[in-house]
Amino acid sequence: MSAEDKSDTSGLIREDAMVPLARQLSVLNKVDEFKNTNKLDVTHEWLQALVNHVSDYVFVKDRHSRFVVGNDRVATDIGFKGISDLIGKSDWELHTPEVAKRFFDDEQTVMETGVPLINREEIVILSNGKTRWFAASKHPIFDENGEVVGIVGASRDITQRKRAQLLQNGQNKVLQEIATGAPLATVLETLVLSIEEQLDGVLGSVMLMDETGKKLLSGVAPNLPEDYTKAIDGLRIGPSVGSCGTAAYTRKNVFVDNLFESELWANCLGVIQGFDLKSCWSVPILSRNSEVLGTFGLYTNAVRSATAHELQIAEEAARLASIAIERDNAEKRIRYLAHHDPLTGLPNRQEFDAKLEEQISLSRDTGDPFAIVFVDMDNFKFVNDSFGHETGDKVLKIVAERITEVSKSSHQAIRFGGDEFVLIIDGPDAKKTNLKQFMEKLRAEMTKTIRIGGTSFHVTCSLGAAVFPNDADNAETLLRHADGAMFEAKALGRNSFFLFEKKQCRNPINKLALLEDMRSGIDDGQFFLEYQPQFDLMSGRIVGVEALARWLHPHLGLLMPAQFIELAEESGLIIPLGLWVLKEACRQNKSWQMAGLTPVTVGVNVSVRQFRDMTLLADVKEALAKSGLEAKYLELELTESLLIQNAETAVDLMEGFRNLGVNLAIDDFGTGYSSLAALKDFPLTRLKIDRSFIRDLDHKESDRSIARAIISLGRELGLNVVAEGVETAKQQAFLASCQCETVQGFHFGRPMSSEKLERLLAMTLTQIDVKTHSIPQSMIA
Ligand code: C2E
Ligand code: CA
Ligand code: CA
Repeated sequence: MSAEDKSDTSGLIREDAMVPLARQLSVLNKVDEFKNTNKLDVTHEWLQALVNHVSDYVFVKDRHSRFVVGNDRVATDIGFKGISDLIGKSDWELHTPEVAKRFFDDEQTVMETGVPLINREEIVILSNGKTRWFAASKHPIFDENGEVVGIVGASRDITQRKRAQLLQNGQNKVLQEIATGAPLATVLETLVLSIEEQLDGVLGSVMLMDETGKKLLSGVAPNLPEDYTKAIDGLRIGPSVGSCGTAAYTRKNVFVDNLFESELWANCLGVIQGFDLKSCWSVPILSRNSEVLGTFGLYTNAVRSATAHELQIAEEAARLASIAIERDNAEKRIRYLAHHDPLTGLPNRQEFDAKLEEQISLSRDTGDPFAIVFVDMDNFKFVNDSFGHETGDKVLKIVAERITEVSKSSHQAIRFGGDEFVLIIDGPDAKKTNLKQFMEKLRAEMTKTIRIGGTSFHVTCSLGAAVFPNDADNAETLLRHADGAMFEAKALGRNSFFLFEKKQCRNPINKLALLEDMRSGIDDGQFFLEYQPQFDLMSGRIVGVEALARWLHPHLGLLMPAQFIELAEESGLIIPLGLWVLKEACRQNKSWQMAGLTPVTVGVNVSVRQFRDMTLLADVKEALAKSGLEAKYLELELTESLLIQNAETAVDLMEGFRNLGVNLAIDDFGTGYSSLAALKDFPLTRLKIDRSFIRDLDHKESDRSIARAIISLGRELGLNVVAEGVETAKQQAFLASCQCETVQGFHFGRPMSSEKLERLLAMTLTQIDVKTHSIPQSMIA
């Protein structure tokens, strides 16, 4: 007899079929025996009571997977009163088709193959909506003829263990993703999904704090309605802004069981309107330093409070989220630092190379030209030397802002290093005429007054530009040409710009190469001095000369200080170069005296760097001793920045020079930041008024009054005042009217070779016209 035959059409197993089936179970065997001696009904109740006490599910199903016997738990957990409601029913009537099919297929396989299924893990959603996991075992039941007539099953609730395992797996997966550098959104989504898997009927969401620290952004909420997450994007944080806004604000858990009755949600109810959300439990996500990074929220669609388990899971999730967010922040920072200059926030050199290549291929495709503009601050070292690096950094920041401002953010500005910036200019500004306007605007913007703390001052820059593809057809040449053009601008006297021109720039100057050449040039004797005479306005006599360095470069020809002094200062080569100048100037002056010419002082420019060098005093002593020049015929020209920084050490050192008998002049007075009053603290002998005040004497009343004030104050301080850059007779006349004692400038003589100056010295002995206060041009041509 087949199992099929034993079922009647109503779907119930016939009594005779039950006998062999039940016999397969030892319990039921006993029942059988019992049945022979007792009444069956009693046995059934007794048996039922027994199985009902088993905490696992136990059941027997027939060949068609219909329930035959079972304990009450099987029935009650899926919403029935007792097992009797289930007898004769199949899983198709009890579960979703998907779940039922799984059970059915498993059981039919067991019955067809006769091979039991042991500890199969099954997931079931119970009638109360809770998810449970079971480990089910199903054994085939054979009749007397060895044919399969059904199965006996037992299933154990392993939800607890499974949850712990899921939690562990979820954590592992999240941590693994963090470790392998998965995007933050991916990590957070994994986290939310794994939490949703572990908890019944909750939807998770992570909100992230925005840059301002005042708003939460919708981070990740894969299963919340999209319209809802959109609606809460940019939620401001505050003492009563829903669960998350409040949690972020108070840094404490905010668990709201009924959104519609909570004061915290009173102003947010509009947002949840139309969504089936009833409670929201939020945990703040805190960094290691206790900064709020965001919130981890759980929503349910039933009004209820969180269980201890749910609370624990939510806190655990917030902790994982914090690890993920912190890692992401750290990575962003590293990535940012790799491509940006931390001081100015501008892209850095590495980033520039990539952008330049990009721009070149774009330009090749479109045919539109673009320009590279080099911006190099003039004498930036001066700012650093005068005010320290902190102020220097602030200035660089301001300069970077000005550059960004002028380029209206539409052009790429990059910090190239140190005090150099580079701009990539595309669009109409890249056309030569516009480019000139642009550079002029940038140049002008740069010279605007900078105020830091109580000090205000000016900085200037030199700009050079080259255009792709007109001036160069590759990145390297383009950069070289723009750099070369910038150098030309420096040579023009700084605070100006220069546009690369193929014919004018046959020998573009390259900074690095020049530096190398300078090293060897000093040793190879490529440098020489020119001397510019200084005259006493009253007597008309030559009283001094200023030694000015020149470099006869083997390929580039004659280079002026504007083309190499800054580089020498930056690189430190000013120390050996300055030492050579000092020795040579002393030697030359002594040699004129030995030739019987009028003794004059020789002025030697000393840069801040040299002044800081501990050996300067010893160097000066040695230069004097070696040349035999008397100290009173040497004058060191110092800049104002020297006086400002380390004023005390400066005074000490200056006193050292004065004790030797060496004269000390303050050079370019008026361009720096020291006040006239401050000068009295320093043992100076001379004041050289900067050229810029003399230049406009003829037409600027303000400059006339400044010059007059400087001259009279200098005199009061007992200093000899020299006006530099006197170019006209009118300027000379004005200076004479102010009783300025000494003059220097093209009007009286340009810097000249030692031979020429020697002739001038010889002539001056006899030929100067004291009364007219002018030196005949024929003498100095
Ligand atoms: P400075 O110390 O202000 O030197 C005077 C500069 O003004 C010289 O330029 C000179 O040629 C120029 N000059 C003189 N009279 C006139 C005039 O009437 N009109 C105009 N337009 N310019 C005039 P130079 O020789 O190009 O030197 C530039 C600067 O280079 C010097 O400025 C000085 O700061 C620096 N320098 C020159 N030689 C040395 C040196 O041996 N050591 C150091 N540390 N710096 C040096
Ligand atoms: Ca000078
Ligand atoms: Ca000067």
